[in-house]
Amino acid sequence: MANIDPKFGEALKEYGGVNFNACYNCGNCTAVCSLSTPEDSFPREMVRLSVLGLQDDLKSSLKPWLCYYCGECTTHCPQTANPGELMMSLRRWLTSQYDWTGLSGLLYKSLPLSIIAFVLTTIGVIAFAAYESFNLETIIHFGHYFEMIAIGAVFTFILLPNIIRMWWFVILKPKIQVSFSTYVKSIRELIVHMFTQKRSLGCDDNQVRWFEHLILVFGYLALLFTTVFLDWFSSQNLFVIILGYVESVVIFVVTFDFMGSRIKKNKEINKFSQPSDWFFVIWLFLMGLTAFIVRAFIDLDILETNSWMYLLHLTVLVQWALIIVPFGKWTHFLYRSFAMYFDKVKKMSA
Ligand code: SF4
Ligand code: SF4
Repeated sequence: MANIDPKFGEALKEYGGVNFNACYNCGNCTAVCSLSTPEDSFPREMVRLSVLGLQDDLKSSLKPWLCYYCGECTTHCPQTANPGELMMSLRRWLTSQYDWTGLSGLLYKSLPLSIIAFVLTTIGVIAFAAYESFNLETIIHFGHYFEMIAIGAVFTFILLPNIIRMWWFVILKPKIQVSFSTYVKSIRELIVHMFTQKRSLGCDDNQVRWFEHLILVFGYLALLFTTVFLDWFSSQNLFVIILGYVESVVIFVVTFDFMGSRIKKNKEINKFSQPSDWFFVIWLFLMGLTAFIVRAFIDLDILETNSWMYLLHLTVLVQWALIIVPFGKWTHFLYRSFAMYFDKVKKMSA
């Protein structure tokens, strides 16, 4: 029997849900949503489940991930119940439910805790640099290996178990019978959505935003490859050097535009930014910018006398890898891709 929890609404407000209790169930939001279909109908259903606090139903649902936050539903809601932001807050809440460490939920709910995490990582980087007597060569060497080790460790110990928990909530616990071959046949869905997010093209007038996201994803992955595997900061290869410059420029230009939109609040998606939204765009911007400046300082032969610049870049990198990637908004990229995959698996097994 389903457990109704009227207090759930209060909990969801800590994840950004605003005014969804005002919903009187008219269905306008679902009618105007260009991504809602008869078999995957939302957001009204999600609003009802949230108002009633039916957490198990919400946890087993993939619908919050099927929304790409165009904001049409919010614009047409006669009760200003803001269903678009409710869907966003459900994604944050689900992230906290998938995360076995519990840190994701704590960081979403508490700005002071997030700030403490950023301060502690800064102290850690400075302490390490002091321990190494601020020897730039050693610190750059560490930074290079840190990226590789952090990617492997975060994926193995945080993200992979969390994806398995998501699988448990949406497939295993509801006892959906899925054959092994269905999992294999649906893999294409995972890869296509992970790299293209093509479903968001179904939102009206979303082509520019989709394209910006696309080049950001490719720019980010390419810069990661260039710094980790092509060792950009130590490379003498002109092609690799220029490639890194181009990738870092793509990242900080696109994220600068995203930050501008959030400040201007010119679209529904930008009207209710939470700290986690800001951390994501600001840190990505800083990653691109500081990487660009570090490489420019190397080429101008002034990094040795300005080693603080590399320390700044390393601090941003460590905070990104240890806070934002495993526990922050970066995870939405991963969970959304797996949601598309699990959705396909469920439909093929129906
Ligand atoms: S349009 Fe607003 S009031 Fe109507 S069902 Fe959706 S959220 Fe509720
Ligand atoms: S924000 Fe857009 S995609 Fe999401 S539920 Fe509302 S109308 Fe649908």
